[in-house]
Amino acid sequence: MALHEKISSILATEPLGSKVTVKGWVRTFRSNRFVAVNDGTTLQSIQAVVDYEREDEALLAKLSPGAAVSISGEVVESQGKGQRVEIMAESIEVHGTSDPERYPLQPKKHSLEFLREIAHLRFRTNTFGAIFRIRHTLSFAIHKFFHDRAFYYLHTPIITASDAEGAGEMFRVTTLPAGDPPRREDGTVDFTKDFFQQETNLTVSGQLEAELGALALSRVYTFGPTFRAENSNTSRHLAEFWMIEPEVAFANLKDNQDLAEEMLKYLIKEVLAAHPEDLQFLNDRLQQEESQKPAHQRSSMGLIEKLEFCVAEDFERLTYTEAIRILQNSKPNKKKKFQFVIEDWGADLQSEHERYLVEKHCKKPVILTDYPTQIKSFYMRLNDDQKTVGAMDVLFPGIGEIIGGSQREERLDVLERRMAEMNIPQEELSWFLDIRRFGTCPHAGFGLGFERMVQFVTGMSNIRDVIPFPRTPGNVSF
Ligand code: ATP
Ligand code: MN
Repeated sequence: MALHEKISSILATEPLGSKVTVKGWVRTFRSNRFVAVNDGTTLQSIQAVVDYEREDEALLAKLSPGAAVSISGEVVESQGKGQRVEIMAESIEVHGTSDPERYPLQPKKHSLEFLREIAHLRFRTNTFGAIFRIRHTLSFAIHKFFHDRAFYYLHTPIITASDAEGAGEMFRVTTLPAGDPPRREDGTVDFTKDFFQQETNLTVSGQLEAELGALALSRVYTFGPTFRAENSNTSRHLAEFWMIEPEVAFANLKDNQDLAEEMLKYLIKEVLAAHPEDLQFLNDRLQQEESQKPAHQRSSMGLIEKLEFCVAEDFERLTYTEAIRILQNSKPNKKKKFQFVIEDWGADLQSEHERYLVEKHCKKPVILTDYPTQIKSFYMRLNDDQKTVGAMDVLFPGIGEIIGGSQREERLDVLERRMAEMNIPQEELSWFLDIRRFGTCPHAGFGLGFERMVQFVTGMSNIRDVIPFPRTPGNVSF
């Protein structure tokens, strides 16, 4: 099938003198003469010049913002400013009109909050066009990165019976009637009557399943939807997000850090190479947003500069213990400016601490390792000191934690002991323990929050603006 021309290719190749047909949506129609048409393939709209003396008035009336059109004509050099080529319209077809009184996207700047309320139309704006083109490139680059390094893409289940990561944050999956579920004698819900004959939830991570794949295929990764019923209305949390989780057999914590750093740099480079125009646009919108802030809150680097900086610099690698010392001696801690003042070793790090380390102290991405056992998951490998585990978090400027990972506990006896200490029932996870029983080996992996990556690369401050249909507490309409 021969598709019509993409506006991006016409603007890139400037085929002067040739006849083209473009199809897209009207952005503006000025002076009864100039139609700007955008088809989402590039930030730029193409200008079509209409001969209003020849065209039917009824047709011209339909060329309002939002209308879907096909326009054919010759590509000519533009007489006006702002574009090098334009189309002399010879035939115009309006597929779908858009009532100018009711179309909410006017040719002016809309607030992101407003656009979130009409999220089904956000795609039609310059900002969201740029974001979703970049989101695509990032997801494609993730597959390419792993494919080129002999990782297999593993699809892990969305419905799971295990609650491995911590109770209370999961969405239940059930076919039992909500109003009147079958009950046991003691009044509790009888889940043996449910579809799976037990309680099930939406997955919070594909890691445990990915470990099984890695201990046979050597290197695997997941890239799928992840669900967390965290009732936190932050700018970095969604109830439904996408996560990338590589898992590597015969790898230790150092290998894991190297892989994470290499991957993040690769992804940033791919976007820099593929989207100069979209990035420049986002760079400028961020600069404008920043200029509204008080001086001390402004970021010292522009978006593109920051991306190039992250590719060029080695990430700082620190242990949790070193980080705690830095934080204890920091100004905001001494002056009690942190909401959570760091008292002792063992304290969990909050986003304010992570961002201090990255943005104020190290001034570059940081990989923190070897956290206290108590604040990390049961499956992380116990270090020889018996009080820390081989965990790693990658912290990014403006974002805080972008990756969480670890070397996994491959020793059956140590893992069983840790699970007992943390009251995790072993029967439920016998399938997970089995790979420690049959051919266990050192292995490591991590989880990258896809939307946090898109946030970082696009400079968007709210995670809701980098996913097409955000799900957050109370928001699920579209
Ligand atoms: P945080 O402390 O920021 O809530 P976490 O420790 O719960 O993160 P992990 O369980 O390690 O995160 O998950 C791995 C990665 O998934 C995180 O580094 C982050 O990038 C991303 N992530 C976690 N929770 C969310 C969420 N609710 N929305 C979007 N991304 C998330
Ligand atoms: Mn969390």
